[in-house]
Amino acid sequence: MIIAIDGPAASGKGTLARRLAAHYRFHHLDTGVIYRAVARALLEAGADLNDEDRAAAAAEDLDPAAFDDPALKSQRVGDAASVVSALPRVRAALLQFQRRFAAQPPGAVLDGRDIGTVICPEADVKIFVVADAEVRARRRTLEALERGEAANEAEVLADILRRDARDSDRATAPLKRAEDAHLLDNSHLDIEGGVRAAIAIVEAVRAGRSGV
Ligand code: C5P
Repeated sequence: MIIAIDGPAASGKGTLARRLAAHYRFHHLDTGVIYRAVARALLEAGADLNDEDRAAAAAEDLDPAAFDDPALKSQRVGDAASVVSALPRVRAALLQFQRRFAAQPPGAVLDGRDIGTVICPEADVKIFVVADAEVRARRRTLEALERGEAANEAEVLADILRRDARDSDRATAPLKRAEDAHLLDNSHLDIEGGVRAAIAIVEAVRAGRSGV
């Protein structure tokens, strides 16, 4: 079974995906991490983020063992990730990795921007998570402060809006809700409420199938 979770920056989709994977004992991939890893490789090399040859080479060389590095979570790396992720050859280089991950038994939950539209259009369940930009900025700011990073809520909000616009307006695999994705508005839900809503969606899809 494949569960695809997409949505904008800081909508809470990562937490929901992790919790759903734990609930169903499925594999989980936060696909933002792979674009962040490519961005970090370019930042460290002092390379131009729009250098498609270098970015595609970094994507082909990715080491999944480095995906846990907390340095990937910073706002600077996230912002750079939204630049490299717009490059078509970077996305092409990462496509098969994500599809292979999704095909692992007994199932997988992938979260990102184009899982339900491009990576796994045949996913069994698709959820599109949204939340008000102000709510997302507050959550991201608190997370950064907890990691010991300096964070200003107004700047975080501006970064989120800039990233939403870049991710939604790009030509290749833009952020958009798949037609068959269930909408989950996470603005006024706490984590447990969001998890319950996501499990209810998965169970409703399963019940619909077994009833056929
Ligand atoms: O989700 P996260 O904030 O970690 O993603 C960082 C950036 O990576 C996003 O702003 C987006 O540009 C890009 N991304 C993407 N496709 C995905 C996941 C992330 O383009 N499936």
